[in-house]
Amino acid sequence: MSKKFDVVVIGGGPGGYVAAIRCAQLGLSTACIEKWTDKEDKPVLGGTCLNVGCIPSKALLDSSHKYEEASEKFDLHGISVGKVSMDVEKMLARKDQIVKNLTMGVATLFKANGVTSFEGTGKLLANKQVEYTDHSGNTEVLSAENVIIATGSVPVEIPPAPLTDDVIVDSTGALEFTKVPKRLGVIGAGVIGLELGSVWGRLGAEVTVLEAQDSFLHLVDQTVAKEAKKLFSKQGMDIRVGARVTGTDVKRKKVTVTYQDSEGEKSEEFDNLIVAVGRRPYTEGLLSGDCGVNLDERGFIHVDETCKTSAPGIWAVGDVVRGPMLAHKASEEGVMVAERIAGHKAQLNYDCIPSVIYTHPEIAWVGKTEDELKANGTSYNVGMFPFAANGRAMAAADTDGFVKIVADAETDRILGASVIGPSAGDLCQQLVIAMEFGSSAEDVGMMVFSHPTLSEAVHEAALAVNNQAIHKANRKPKAK
Ligand code: FAD
Ligand code: AMP
Repeated sequence: MSKKFDVVVIGGGPGGYVAAIRCAQLGLSTACIEKWTDKEDKPVLGGTCLNVGCIPSKALLDSSHKYEEASEKFDLHGISVGKVSMDVEKMLARKDQIVKNLTMGVATLFKANGVTSFEGTGKLLANKQVEYTDHSGNTEVLSAENVIIATGSVPVEIPPAPLTDDVIVDSTGALEFTKVPKRLGVIGAGVIGLELGSVWGRLGAEVTVLEAQDSFLHLVDQTVAKEAKKLFSKQGMDIRVGARVTGTDVKRKKVTVTYQDSEGEKSEEFDNLIVAVGRRPYTEGLLSGDCGVNLDERGFIHVDETCKTSAPGIWAVGDVVRGPMLAHKASEEGVMVAERIAGHKAQLNYDCIPSVIYTHPEIAWVGKTEDELKANGTSYNVGMFPFAANGRAMAAADTDGFVKIVADAETDRILGASVIGPSAGDLCQQLVIAMEFGSSAEDVGMMVFSHPTLSEAVHEAALAVNNQAIHKANRKPKAK
C-alpha cells in the first residue's frame, strides 16, 4: 500500500518548501521530498537559495562590504582603526552558521505546519505517483491528488572551462575560497558573476570579468548599466565585454584563460577562475517516460501561466520553469499553486517581479526599461533623481547612483523603475507596490515621504516624471 497525500512536493528550495507550507496551511496533507545534503552529509532543506545561493552570497557580500568600509571609508568619519585584516575562515564560518540557522528554521516550519519530510530523491511516475528513494537506496511509492515539481536549477558548465577541485570553480566553489585569490577571473558578467567578483575584489583580489556579449548588463536599463560599469571599474573591477572564453589550461594551481575579443585571441593568468555563465533547469532522473510532463525546447518543464504542466494534477514552479531564476519568483509561484490546488483563484503578476544585484551600489529594477519602451514604440515620460542630491545619502557618504521611473505619457501610469544606489533593492520595492496598485507617477508624487530618507529619491524621481521635482532642476519646467 503506497502512502497517500493530498500533495507531494518534489524539491525543498524556496519554490518547494513555500508551496508545501502553504498547502499545509490550507488543510492539505502534504509531503516534501528533498535530496540535498550539507558538507557533513546531513539532509537539509532550503535548496540552492539557502545553501549555496541568495543567503551565503549575501553573508559574504555583507562581510566584505564591512571590511572595505573599515579599510577605506571609516577615516572619512574621523574613525581610525589601524590596519584592518580579514580572517577568511571566520567569515566563512559566520556564513555557514547563517545557512544552518535558516535551513533548520525551514525544518522547524515543516514540523509546525505538519508537512511530512522525506529525505531523498523523488521521481514522478504516471498517475500522480512519486517514487521516493531514501539516502540508503530504499524505495517506496507515494501517491497524491496533486504533485508540485520544484527541482530548481544547477550551474551551467562550459566545455572551455571544466571545473577543477580548487582552481576553476562554479558559484558554489566561489563561496568557499579559503584564502583571497591574488588574481581572480570571472567568466560571465551576470548577477552571480558580479556579486561574487565583488566579494573577493573587496577583500583584495584583482578581479577581471570576461563577458562574451558586447553590451554590459543587457537586461538592465542601459543608463543604469553604463553607470554600473563606470562605478565597478572605479572600484577596480576590470570588465571586458565582447570577450568569449575559448579555453583554459590549469598548471601548478594557476589557470591560463584564453579568450577571443574583437582584436583576436588573448590570454590571461589567474589564481582562481569562477565560471558564472548562467544556470539550467534541473530535471535529471526526475521524470519517468510515461509521466506525461513535457519539457520545452530549452529543457524547462513546460507550464502555463498558472504553473500547470501538460499532465493533469502535476504542477511545476521556480527555476525549473520559464521566467526569471529568482527565489521570490519561485516562492510566489509556490503560493499560487498551493492556493489553486485548494480551489482559490490565485494568480501572479509576472510584470511586477523585481530583480536585484547586491553589489555596492545595489542595482534593482522592475517592469519595463526605457530601452524596451523605446523599442516597442510606447510613448513615455522619464523621471530621474540622483542620490548626490539626497540629504540622507550625503549624510551616509553614499551618493553614487540614481532612481529612474518610466511612466506612460498618456496615462502617467508607472511602467517601470530602475534604481542604482544605496539600498536600491528596498527602494525599488516601493515602486513594485506602486505598480501593483496601478499607481501613476503623480500618485507617488502626492504621497508623504519621511525626511531625511533615501526614499525621498523615489519621491523626487516620481515628481520628475512630470517635471515637478523640487530638489533638482527639471528639464522642462511646467508653467503651473
Ligand atoms: P532550488 O532552490 O534550486 O531548489 C530545488 C531543490 O530541489 C534543491 O534543494 C534540490 O536538491 C531539490 N531536488 C532536485 N531534484 C530533486 C529530486 N529529484 N528529488 C528531491 N529533491 C530534488 N535569487 C534571488 O532571488 N536573490 C538572490 O540574491 C539570489 N542570489 C543567488 C546567488 C547565487 C550564488 C545563486 C547560485 C543563486 C541565487 N539566486 C538568487 C537564485 C535562487 O537561488 C534561485 O532562483 C532559487 O533557489 C530557486 O528556487 P527553486 O525552489 O526553484 O530551486
Ligand atoms: P547570467 O545568465 O545572468 O548568469 O549571465 C551569464 C553571462 O555569461 C552571460 O552574460 C553570458 O553572455 C556570459 N557567458 C556565457 N558563456 C561565456 C563565455 N564562454 N565567455 C564569456 N562569457 C560567457
